[in-house]
Amino acid sequence: VEGSEGRESGYWRLSKLAVPARDDPGKDFTGISLPLLQAIAKAIKFPVASMLPDEAFTVIRKSFDARKVLKEPQFTYTVDMDVKKLLDMEPRAWDFIARLEPKLGAVEYMPKEKLASDLVSMLNASSKGYDNELGIKDTHNGSICPQDKKPRVAVIGSGPSGLFASLVLGELGAEVTLLERGQPVEQRGRDIGALAVRRILQSESNFCFGEGGAGTWSDGKLVTRIGRNTDGVQAVMKTFVQFGAPPNILVDGKPHLGTDKLVPLLRNFRHHLRQLGVTIRFNARVDDLMVEDGQVKGIMVSDAELRPGSGSQKLSFDAVVLAVGHSARDTYNMLQQHNVDMSPKSFSVGLRIEHPQELINSIQYSELAAEVQKGRGRIPVADYKIVKSVGEKGAEELDIAEQSRSCYSFCMCPGGQVVLTSTDPSELCINGMSFSRRASKWANSALVVTVSSHDFKPFQSHGPLAGVEFQREFERRAAVMGGGNFVVPAQRVTDFISNRLSVTTLPPSSYRLGVRPSKLHELFTPYITEALQQSIIMIDREMPGFVSSEALLHGVETRTSSPLQISRHGETYESTSLRGLYPIGEGAGYAGGILSAAVDGMYCGFALAKQLSLFHGDI
Ligand code: FAD
Repeated sequence: VEGSEGRESGYWRLSKLAVPARDDPGKDFTGISLPLLQAIAKAIKFPVASMLPDEAFTVIRKSFDARKVLKEPQFTYTVDMDVKKLLDMEPRAWDFIARLEPKLGAVEYMPKEKLASDLVSMLNASSKGYDNELGIKDTHNGSICPQDKKPRVAVIGSGPSGLFASLVLGELGAEVTLLERGQPVEQRGRDIGALAVRRILQSESNFCFGEGGAGTWSDGKLVTRIGRNTDGVQAVMKTFVQFGAPPNILVDGKPHLGTDKLVPLLRNFRHHLRQLGVTIRFNARVDDLMVEDGQVKGIMVSDAELRPGSGSQKLSFDAVVLAVGHSARDTYNMLQQHNVDMSPKSFSVGLRIEHPQELINSIQYSELAAEVQKGRGRIPVADYKIVKSVGEKGAEELDIAEQSRSCYSFCMCPGGQVVLTSTDPSELCINGMSFSRRASKWANSALVVTVSSHDFKPFQSHGPLAGVEFQREFERRAAVMGGGNFVVPAQRVTDFISNRLSVTTLPPSSYRLGVRPSKLHELFTPYITEALQQSIIMIDREMPGFVSSEALLHGVETRTSSPLQISRHGETYESTSLRGLYPIGEGAGYAGGILSAAVDGMYCGFALAKQLSLFHGDI
């Protein structure tokens, strides 16, 4: 067939292949079923589906789709077709391959195997195996550290960004010290248990601080807005699989891990870092930077053995990677004292809404809801994702004409629970988590409204930390409304939109430390409350039943992302104001979740390794 030369090998990527949910083997099956072969046969116009060999196809993505616009719920697949394998086993397919036309977003020809450049195999090869083909330089000429010794790098914080920066730098031969103010996951789990049962909040070991960072006791959703198929995200996902995550996260349309899968994964990560020679110090809070002539020369650490009273330990380093997350307010203060370039950044605040999971299943799936079976069934537990734009009544206060605000669901946890993410007992803030099966009877999600520096005006005397003070104000109000002891202020959604206190008994909540009926409609500034109220009413039109007497709002959700950004140079990741400091991850304002934080840490690791003359490749 004219124009078909060269197609005897390579891959076709077939997307948007639909299999009705009733015919599909279910959410956990990622192989090639007959109904999927039928969808493939239709896409390539091959007459007899059963004659297509399974071996020629690989599922790249599988998502469940129950949108109301569809005739019936379906699984949607993306599949790679290996032409050579197909033709070896079914030569008659050639006529169809030769005629296949690329179709935007549905059928795409890839002359070679189109895989993310495999950073993972590089990361996990023994460092002795690296040679100049991979771009590793064997001399240290031009390096920012002396030539006769390994460069010493401190990584502050063991969240996803700090872990991945440590991994890359450790693999590439730097002498890495990873400092974490919190506890390893085993002790951290006990501390979180004590919080849930005995109301003891450890200031350094809690839902935000400790090994694995803020996302460890979380839903472990591995979704990101930075592009699922990008090399960086693929490398991070594959690294997770190498450290014990289930391989289906590479295929699931909406992958998630859950706390029970994250904890062993982190243990394996720690073990691997130690094998590489990375020194890991838990219970080691970095309190200050040692700065000389505009350059960071080291850090001041106070660790458990030294605290309290006996002062800090000074440690010298050639470079310091700052991966502290968005709740290290003391660290932000310290950076401000060193005049590090930082500026306030937009983020979002709001409330967390909780419904019975069965109600969300029936809203989203109608009669198919019965098949969910607490995460064990063929159909995934229902979730939702909503974005609304609402009119801005308080615009005049903000000096912005005709502004509208975005209100959206955030960090939705199907089959999960509401948890306390405060790091200080005088402040109260919450988030959501789940286990891998997502089997709890509740579905929770934050409903949040974007706020920006205009909103932080009352706190502008705090300079770049104005957004932090804005957060703190509402966290303190929430703590007072709850009446103390980490009791969370709560209100029925029906009462919230009518501006009245809930007087009858509140519906049950998954939050373990108790809820108290409160006037949440008085917690925020009126324009935030009104934006939330308007959007909740709009959501109910799209998802009838969302406004229900069984739906409970909890306050307050403030730490959706960093309230500031630490300026850095695009290519080198180095701070614009302090040489030798490398701010990364969510706390520095460059990430908004587990994956994006990990990717930022990984690329910073490579950029820094280049400056240390440990690496010369292109990433
Ligand atoms: P962090 O993970 O915050 O890590 C920073 C680390 O630095 C912490 O371990 C902290 O103890 C340490 N540290 C801070 N200051 C110092 C210091 N001075 N010295 C030494 N160590 C220090 N994201 C998702 O993508 N999916 C989810 O499902 C999800 N659910 C979440 C649920 C909860 C309850 C929470 C709190 C967050 C959730 N997130 C989720 C967000 C996600 O956890 C963060 O975006 C991500 O962890 C940011 O990574 P990071 O490395 O930038 O910072």
